[in-house]
Amino acid sequence: MVTRQQTIGARIGFEGVGVHSGALVELSLHPAEAGTGIVFHVFEASGLIHEIAAVSGNVSSTDLSTIVGDRKGAHVATIEHIMAALYAMDVDNVVVQIDGREIPIMDGGSDVFVRAIEQAGVVTQRASRRFLRVLKPVRVELNGGFAEYRPYEGTRFEVEIEFANAAIGRQRFAGDLSPAMFRDELARARTFGFMKDVERLWASGHALGSSLENSVVIGDDETVINPGGLRFVDEFVRHKTLDAVGDQALAGARVLGCYRSFRGGHRLNAMALEALVADRSAHEFIEAPSRRMDPIRQVPLVAAAAPALGPQVL
Ligand SMILES: [Zn+2]
Repeated sequence: MVTRQQTIGARIGFEGVGVHSGALVELSLHPAEAGTGIVFHVFEASGLIHEIAAVSGNVSSTDLSTIVGDRKGAHVATIEHIMAALYAMDVDNVVVQIDGREIPIMDGGSDVFVRAIEQAGVVTQRASRRFLRVLKPVRVELNGGFAEYRPYEGTRFEVEIEFANAAIGRQRFAGDLSPAMFRDELARARTFGFMKDVERLWASGHALGSSLENSVVIGDDETVINPGGLRFVDEFVRHKTLDAVGDQALAGARVLGCYRSFRGGHRLNAMALEALVADRSAHEFIEAPSRRMDPIRQVPLVAAAAPALGPQVL
């Protein structure tokens, strides 16, 4: 377990379209001091910069994607896939600069973000990490689905979905979160949608950047229309798990507990975290054990040497 706070070892730049807005945006990740957390700096054309911390108290909407905003009306949409990558790779402190209002969709999952973080390297900082430990079960329900946190020695996800569609059906994924598990089993799972919803979404100004390059699309005949097919036979539930990881990252501390959901989504993920944090008897915030108790982490880690940096790393 990582017990010291971590940041990235180099600045990382991306360019891509927002899946809902269709707008081309530039995004860059910057190393940040211990205690910063993940903070979005939203640049307006006027030169004004809005600072929005990626914490559950700033969530302004969970329709279609998770959106954080401030009281002045600034917001950043579709933060879940980059948040999942940072949380899973044990990166606590980063400033995310963006010149638009939506995180680019890139490959539809977290793979591009994970690879870039690996190239930049992860740097251990002096400060202890904060953990949010689940002390007793907390459960919420919504529209025939439910989500719950329960005590667990680690960070575990158990996600089950059920769609009345032959392409998906009932699928379940369970696993303990680690950088390797996330990279190998979840990061490549793409967002998905139904052809029958596309016209409605377009009419309401959404999914304008959606394409077969960044989304799995299910046709009216209940089959996947992407020419390359699926990346995993159960890619749908893996993506839902990726989303749950990204939404949990808004706790602002590493959760020690098991998160389980059935027929969940961004709304239910947010409701469960809210219920956990609201119930003082159900959780505690703790600092990592002292270094003496964890000798393996005494030496600061720098994962990648500069010559190995790829083109995405500035
Ligand atoms: Zn997603």
